[in-house]
Amino acid sequence: MEYVSCRASKLVLSVPSKFFVEWIEEHYKQTIIESVKVTSDTDVTLGLVIVAQEKAPAKTQKKPAEPKKISSQPNLSKAKLNEKYTLNKFVVGKSNEFCYAACKAITKNLGTTYNPLFLYGGVGLGKTHLMQAIGNDALEKNPDMRVLYISSEEFVNDLISSLQRGHMSSFRNRYRSLDLLLVDDIQFIAGKERTQEEFFHTFNTLFQEKKQIVLSSDKFPKEITNMEERLRSRFAWGLIADIQPPELEIKMAILQKIAKENGFTLGEEVSSYLGNKIKSNIRELEGCFSRVMAYSSLTGRNIDLEMTKETLKGIYDETTSAIDIKDIQKAVADFYKLKVLDLKSKDRKKNIALPRHVAIYLCREYTNNSLPEIGRAFGGRDHTTIMHSVQKVKQDVNDNTKLYNEIKEIKRIMDL
Ligand code: ADP
Ligand code: MG
Repeated sequence: MEYVSCRASKLVLSVPSKFFVEWIEEHYKQTIIESVKVTSDTDVTLGLVIVAQEKAPAKTQKKPAEPKKISSQPNLSKAKLNEKYTLNKFVVGKSNEFCYAACKAITKNLGTTYNPLFLYGGVGLGKTHLMQAIGNDALEKNPDMRVLYISSEEFVNDLISSLQRGHMSSFRNRYRSLDLLLVDDIQFIAGKERTQEEFFHTFNTLFQEKKQIVLSSDKFPKEITNMEERLRSRFAWGLIADIQPPELEIKMAILQKIAKENGFTLGEEVSSYLGNKIKSNIRELEGCFSRVMAYSSLTGRNIDLEMTKETLKGIYDETTSAIDIKDIQKAVADFYKLKVLDLKSKDRKKNIALPRHVAIYLCREYTNNSLPEIGRAFGGRDHTTIMHSVQKVKQDVNDNTKLYNEIKEIKRIMDL
């Protein structure tokens, strides 16, 4: 168990598996919360993320990782798999635990548990990682298994060239004889009728023979337009598992994991800065942090906040999405241990009304939304009410130190 972060009264620890999550929640949660209360007089809630232990953890600092050995398994390249993507390396938290559990479940019983498994989620959230991990797991358990990972674009290209060369029977044989077919970004076959026709038959053959099919998409099956209905409905035959945008804790845990693997020490200040800066795309988060690590290696400077900001200056400023109302509502609700719904409600109790004023004030100060837009986002309040909240906070912060500090802390958490 390792410390990840403690922000906005939420203590986050990483544990090696789901078993630990359940065990700690059942047996130790209260003890941990009480110990924190006793030692630092703070009320915290406990969050747990799963970071599987690497077999050989990096012991020394600042030592570049050893070059990877070339894969000894010819099947890996035949299956188009990259062995770096494993289930073990996948950091699990609330936003992706369902998807992760679904992947884990099918690896135990390929072809029979959920077929097909349809992973869906936004860009850079780990779909490809999980699909590859399923393939790697299958080959590790049984190196003779016929596994193929393919993007739907490659499938299209393979089909076209097979058609041109008159090699359709070997094309069909190639796909229909597999034990596990992983097709990434299936949404790209939308609008391509011939490909859909061919994929339909591939799907049916594999499905009837109880061979596992895993598909991924950035859209829900029903939302993929220009896709034949018979295919769309088949996509939903098994299990649809979605990955949500990552919460801050997962982002911080991923960064700490990468830092550790590369022999760097990473403070919480930097990981929360980066986690807040890069909203949802984990690929972007990794890219951003690689730059920081490279900068640190080249200059010999330690990774601290100042150095991180310097490294990323002008590069990530434009690509990061501007703060929006939802981000503020979420951060304020988390900070005051409320639900976003409370902020939108009509409840006028002080412990809810005050955070609501704060959230409205921050929306006014840090987003480009108009007063009526903010009003709509807060349960349909009219613009004069919004104006009133903004003014109230502006006045109160002058002589209310507690409020002043709370807002300062929220702004710090959100990097405003
Ligand atoms: P997608 O296919 O959904 O666009 P990827 O699977 O390519 O996303 O993920 C982008 C990058 O982020 C990959 O390098 C992947 O290893 C990493 N990544 C995503 N989610 C996690 C996670 N939960 N734990 C560790 N790494 C992750
Ligand atoms: Mg992908």
